[in-house]
Amino acid sequence: MATRRTDRSHVRDLHALCCWAVSTDEHALTAQLRVACAIARMPLGVIYRLAGNHAQKVAAFGPPDWVADLPAEAPAWRLAREDVALVPIVGRGPAAPEIALFPPTVRVAAAVSVPVVQDGRQFGAMVLVDAEPREDLDSVDPGALRTVAAQTTIHLAPPTPVRGVLRERKETLPPHIRDLAAWPLAAGAHDAVTGLPDRRMLEEPVEVALDDAERDGTGVAIAILALDRFHRIDDWLGREVGDGLLRQVAERLLDTTSERDLVGRGSGDEFVVVLTGRPRGSSALGLADRMLQVVREPFHVQGYELSLSASVGIARYPEDATDGTTLLRYAGIAMHRAKASRRRGSIECFTDELRGEVERRGDLERHLRRALGAGELLLHYQPKVSLATRRSTELEALIRWQRQDGLVSPAHFLPVAEDSELIVPIGSWVLLEASRQIAKWRAAGLPIERVSVNVSAHQFARPDFFGTVQRVLSSARLPAEHLELEVTETSLMDDVEAAVEKLRALRGLGVRVSVDDFGTGYSSLAYLQRLPVDVLKIDRAFVKDLDGEGLARQHAHALTQAITVLGKSLGLEVLAEGVETEAQLAVLDALGCHAVQGYYFSRPLPADLVPAFFGA
Ligand code: C2E
Ligand code: MG
Ligand code: MG
Repeated sequence: MATRRTDRSHVRDLHALCCWAVSTDEHALTAQLRVACAIARMPLGVIYRLAGNHAQKVAAFGPPDWVADLPAEAPAWRLAREDVALVPIVGRGPAAPEIALFPPTVRVAAAVSVPVVQDGRQFGAMVLVDAEPREDLDSVDPGALRTVAAQTTIHLAPPTPVRGVLRERKETLPPHIRDLAAWPLAAGAHDAVTGLPDRRMLEEPVEVALDDAERDGTGVAIAILALDRFHRIDDWLGREVGDGLLRQVAERLLDTTSERDLVGRGSGDEFVVVLTGRPRGSSALGLADRMLQVVREPFHVQGYELSLSASVGIARYPEDATDGTTLLRYAGIAMHRAKASRRRGSIECFTDELRGEVERRGDLERHLRRALGAGELLLHYQPKVSLATRRSTELEALIRWQRQDGLVSPAHFLPVAEDSELIVPIGSWVLLEASRQIAKWRAAGLPIERVSVNVSAHQFARPDFFGTVQRVLSSARLPAEHLELEVTETSLMDDVEAAVEKLRALRGLGVRVSVDDFGTGYSSLAYLQRLPVDVLKIDRAFVKDLDGEGLARQHAHALTQAITVLGKSLGLEVLAEGVETEAQLAVLDALGCHAVQGYYFSRPLPADLVPAFFGA
């Protein structure tokens, strides 16, 4: 196994000082100034760090010419010491000695100075100034400014152990600050919600922990814990409840782990726990189990009692990998495996079997990348049939990969494309290819009204998706009403507000939208009502049992009926997927479904067989 060669002694010193290194991040400080300036409605803000008799400028925000003129140092005694100083009108000279820090080129008529204090010690000050005299400074909320200044202590004060940072963050923040989109810590290295270091910030201390483990002959385990279905809480009870819950989870994890372990926040619903100084070969399962247990205990947030479950993935040094980036990645892969196991609250360790899978997926990804360039991807088209007319005027485009050894189904390669960024160019290719093909068939006189294209969650979430659709339509010279986009419930639920806006814009163009695989996600009726869509596609899972036996058939019937009634009451077209038999068709017909799709009428067809299907 490779040994670890990087010299990180300089970091180890810092690490010895505290849990991890916190660097001065000018970008984050500037973001904080931006917030402070907004609160005080002042154009220029400067943050000074106290260094002996001097105050060093560490960040500034405001008109560029003013910022350029600011001196790098100022006399320390001029900074506010006690509390927020609001100085409505500043005359130069003795009238405002506390504030007059600036050269004559920076016109100062009013000022606010806020000390940056932690545990009774002052580390610096935040000074905000206006060129206009201000009589209205009484309306500025000093509490809000104090809170913003307190956030800067993580940059101005010596590194703070994260446990301390978390305690500090527990104070409820004034709502108008919470509402500011550019909450300063988001730009920095600590997660704004929990006060934990974010994943990027964990990288360095993880490497340090690994160096220590190599030196001491000990082991390190990285556990990634993901809360199951956390987004439901965010969606249903609101962000504040979700954030409150995350904070409590963070605290419980900190309480469960020891002082020498690291706890950080991964993306969304994930937490990263780095267990250090463990005997080599120990499994870390005991601790993972305890973490699951504490998460299972009920939480009380804003009057709600909430129960959670979580999935944990573990990767270990030196058994699984010797560098932090790989360990973090492997722990993530194990966590996804745990999540996929569908046993709630399960733990997976990274194994050689998973390593094999990672390698296979890597190979597949390389081949797929080449396939896209080499024109090995193609589309098949499956007709949709209207139950009223028994005729087809619409098709769904379904992707295939033509390899030398045969046709590969999307179930095999799309998950890999989704995990890499490849799904984006593939998705754009499908859109363009399908649009061109339909335009061609229509020009040739085939009675085809519309083609639908499946859109992956990743592709839909991209800010440029609308632009891509617009470009494709114009490049294929296809009027928008001949295109339909199939999106899944899950991709709409990720960020409902954004999805609604995007769907509106797309439908504004004239494009139709269907919800694919309806019934398999969490089918939130409340949201469905808000979604601007045209078609509900009932998943094959329900249709399949319609001509089955006993209870399965009753369930399938009840669900299909419920979805059909629901869809129709919302004014949507209802289409059933995967119809294979006469009996299924009869039930769907009786329930009042508008359209069907399935092998009973036609399998997905290669493009050259489509004209024959339409009698051409
Ligand atoms: P989907 O969009 O729900 O497509 C329906 C799937 O059911 C297709 O599988 C289709 O061939 C299959 N099917 C249709 N009728 C029947 C039937 O009567 N019986 C059975 N057993 N199956 C039937 P396919 O083509 O393998 O595609 C699977 C999934 O892959 C699609 O589900 C869709 O989610 C995804 N997909 C396919 N093409 C694309 C694409 O171009 N882009 C994206 N993002 N996803 C795609
Ligand atoms: Mg589909
Ligand atoms: Mg489907």
